[in-house]
Amino acid sequence: MKIALDGPSGAGKSSLAKAIAKELHIVYVDTGALYRSIGLFVRGREVDPKNAEAVIACLPDIQLEMVFEKGEQHIYLCGEDVGDRIRTPEISMYASAVSAIPAVREFLLETQRSIARKTSVIMDGRDIGTVILPDAEVKIFLTASAEARAKRRTLELAAKGISTTYEEVLADMRERDTNDSTRKTAPAIPAEDAVFLDNSDLSVEETIAAALAIIRDKTEK
Ligand code: C5P
Repeated sequence: MKIALDGPSGAGKSSLAKAIAKELHIVYVDTGALYRSIGLFVRGREVDPKNAEAVIACLPDIQLEMVFEKGEQHIYLCGEDVGDRIRTPEISMYASAVSAIPAVREFLLETQRSIARKTSVIMDGRDIGTVILPDAEVKIFLTASAEARAKRRTLELAAKGISTTYEEVLADMRERDTNDSTRKTAPAIPAEDAVFLDNSDLSVEETIAAALAIIRDKTEK
């Protein structure tokens, strides 16, 4: 089974995908982590992530491996586990910038598809339903208002000890939304056959129940 879960930053895709993966005993693949890892590499090289030529010149030196240890996804960048270093607001912006470069998306395409060939997955990202797994049995586009998303992301970052303000997070989120939805290659837009799920006013449990109902409905048909 292939489930594509797309939507803007902070809509709660990863919490939802984790819960669904556990419930259905399938693998959760977080594709944003791949773009973040490229962002981390580019920053390490002190390359401007908006400079496509310079980013592309880095690609031959980037070795990325996605492995699952005890059901948890780990990304090894040139042999080293990136861990939480890819979760900072700065790396979010790097990821957003490098993800607009077509050669970067092409570079990550096969890594994503090959996992879905080997095992049943719920894959979260921006273009899973449109580009990576266009034949997914279930496609969900999870969304929420920018304010609701920024509020949640601020709490998440605070819990990780990353200090920032709601205003900063909201501004970053709006900037990433614009970057992600207006870029020329694989913009973050819903697939034609995706089911919309707006969770602005839903609890985590309600969101999980709604998604499971969509999955049941699609797979029973
Ligand atoms: O999902 P996450 O916030 O970790 O993604 C980080 C960035 O990577 C996003 O802002 C987006 O620009 C990019 N991304 C993408 N396509 C995906 C997953 C993430 O362009 N499938």
